[in-house]
Amino acid sequence: MNYLNIHTHFPTGNPNLPEIENLYFGQSASGKTPYLSAGLHPWFLQPDNMDAAQAWLEKQLAQPGVVAVGEAGLDKVCDTPWELQEQAFRFCIGLSEKLNKPLVIHCVRAHNEVVQIKKEIRPTQSWIFHGFNKNTDIAAMLLREGCYLSFGASILRDGNHSAEALRQTPAELFFLETDDEQDISIRQIYQKAADIRGISSGELAAIQAANWSRCFAIKP
Ligand SMILES: [Zn+2]
Repeated sequence: MNYLNIHTHFPTGNPNLPEIENLYFGQSASGKTPYLSAGLHPWFLQPDNMDAAQAWLEKQLAQPGVVAVGEAGLDKVCDTPWELQEQAFRFCIGLSEKLNKPLVIHCVRAHNEVVQIKKEIRPTQSWIFHGFNKNTDIAAMLLREGCYLSFGASILRDGNHSAEALRQTPAELFFLETDDEQDISIRQIYQKAADIRGISSGELAAIQAANWSRCFAIKP
């Protein structure tokens, strides 16, 4: 069976594990997977590199194999000035809409702000909160807005509130990922997710295959 990894910085290169490699500003694809996403992550923005970052992103998104824009978003814990973060986020939203590709969102303590922007812009593309690691209240707020949630290593930690959020997320609105973890496999995340939801690995695989083909037009 296929384990689909929606967001990784370290693709395995295993053709039986379809995975989307995420590129930060300045990075180039490893060549290990045909599927890519590229975005302007708030951590790597500075006032004097915005023009270069935007030009880099437009070039990356023209590559074949790019299936999503991101990660992009807002982060209240990093030092990047808020206005710069918002400018970059809106730029990425614009490209997601223009290119008809879903948006993968990095969000730290700014879920309300991202939802406000979503209500203002009313995007046609899917928005996916990657690395979701919050409680059921925040999950419910995002799910009400029709956002997808993508869960990773946090669900492996005993007692982490994201496990309960995963349990309560409708089947058609979640993904699974390894992000920047190198010692954790997507298979482990799948096994834990199946446990949490009380379903078989086959049922989980079918759910993820359906979500991938709906969201990314990829038929795993
Ligand atoms: Zn990431």
